[in-house]
Amino acid sequence: MSTELMKFHLFIDGEWVQGSDGETFPVINPATGKIVAEVDKGGKQDIDRAVKAARRVFEAGSWSELPPRKRAQVLFAVAQKIAERAEELVYLESVSSGGTVRRIGAFDIMSAADVFNTMANFCLGYQYTEALPVPAYPGPAHNFIWREPVGVCAAIVPWNFPLLMACWKIAPALAMGNSVVIKPASNTPLTALVLAQIITECGVPPGAVNVVPGPGASAGELLVAHPEVDKIAFTGSTEVGRRIMQLASGTIKKLTLELGGKSPAILLDDADLAIAIPGSLYAFLLHSGQICESGTRLFVPDSLYDQVVELLAAYAAKIKLGNPLDPATDMGPVVSRQQLDTVLSYIGWGREQGARLVCGGRRAVVAGCEEGYFVEPTIFADATNDMRISREEIFGPVLAVIRYHDVAQAVEMANDSIYGLAAGVWSKDVNKAYRVARKLRAGTVWINDWHHLRSDAPFGGYKQSGIGRELGRQALDEYTQVKHVHTSMVPDLERRPWLQLIFSQG
Ligand code: NDP
Repeated sequence: MSTELMKFHLFIDGEWVQGSDGETFPVINPATGKIVAEVDKGGKQDIDRAVKAARRVFEAGSWSELPPRKRAQVLFAVAQKIAERAEELVYLESVSSGGTVRRIGAFDIMSAADVFNTMANFCLGYQYTEALPVPAYPGPAHNFIWREPVGVCAAIVPWNFPLLMACWKIAPALAMGNSVVIKPASNTPLTALVLAQIITECGVPPGAVNVVPGPGASAGELLVAHPEVDKIAFTGSTEVGRRIMQLASGTIKKLTLELGGKSPAILLDDADLAIAIPGSLYAFLLHSGQICESGTRLFVPDSLYDQVVELLAAYAAKIKLGNPLDPATDMGPVVSRQQLDTVLSYIGWGREQGARLVCGGRRAVVAGCEEGYFVEPTIFADATNDMRISREEIFGPVLAVIRYHDVAQAVEMANDSIYGLAAGVWSKDVNKAYRVARKLRAGTVWINDWHHLRSDAPFGGYKQSGIGRELGRQALDEYTQVKHVHTSMVPDLERRPWLQLIFSQG
């Protein structure tokens, strides 16, 4: 791929258009600290133009009223095209997000295509109309519940999985006939832009998918507050999620929020350490820990504590940091200088609060990527559940290993968090693991595994980890309005006694 500076405009109404303010912003490769792209900065006029295009196409019905079979055909084509354009998408995603090409190529691209295929299949089988039983009282009637598209959906997407998070929102929104305006994260706007072009080429009408990059505080807020936006789907920090709820309240918009996490894993005393140790590292190190459902608190029983800590540190030493474009690299950088500083601050607070650093803890210097934002895999032993490293989302390769005496205490500590996105249990006895899983207050629980999400299973959080669900059939419900239609089957006036409620004279 080219090393020249890439340039991207906004994607509105099926076309590449220049930002109205004439301003651009740089996209920096986190592995090198170098600018790889210049992107037009969307302003007020651009947001307005994109929302109006989305509204226009929605009202025209060229997508929203298309039979589901035809919408599904287009979504299947999008899945196919994502796979065909994989090389370009992998490159753009890697040089902006810092994700390894090994992961993006093998996992993100396949998952992105899979989401479109799954939503296309769901779109075919979705129950758009439900007929209720004929009521005896007050008189015969036909009653239907119709599911209809919401209208214009705004999607605000984070930087950790820019392509996949865009797909999680666009695919169900389009499946149900909505139009979409996406505001990608400023660190990683590139793949959402290319995706919108792919989708339009596959036959979604111009204006049904628009992408307007720009700062969250301006472009993001304008989009969220826009009176012609009907629904917001947001993935990002809990703090910004709160702000979005406030802004959405102005016109009572529908909301789906997928927010932060501090996911606990409980290692039971019968866990198979041959699986649980590499599995626990995978849980917190994939994508340098920048995943909302990362397993970042590991609860270990007294009987295994020292052994587990030692094994974790030994395995962590095997992880090879490097340029994410090199397929041999296990772990890339964190996304930005700012994220690097945040992660290093948390490591400092972990030390100050008395946790014992058993490996990592520093910025890593990688040959050939000396300016990159790399952090060593970092494990704190003797952490307690009240330390900042155990309570707050770090979004970096940092694990807190917390000791427990009995399982009830581990469950109590696991649930003692404002978050409830995911959790896990490591045990050879699945029935024992299910008993623990029942007690964990989280939207996803893994047993002897981590990170496995399915496009046909719902994903979302308890507590302050969010509202609503993405993926699964439930995702389609989130992109519909519910309409009850009542048709009276009472033919004669005299058999409508309820009219007497206001006509006493007959
Ligand atoms: P944010 O929540 O700030 O960013 C997520 C998205 O929201 C970006 O597109 C951002 O735009 C946009 N945004 C920011 N502020 C507003 C606003 N006021 N109104 C509308 N949109 C807005 O995450 P950060 O990038 O700041 O990361 C901070 C922390 O958030 C991380 O350390 C991590 O803990 C958490 N996070 C969680 C994610 C998850 O998957 N749950 C994903 C990403 C981060 P812009 O990029 O222009 O600021």
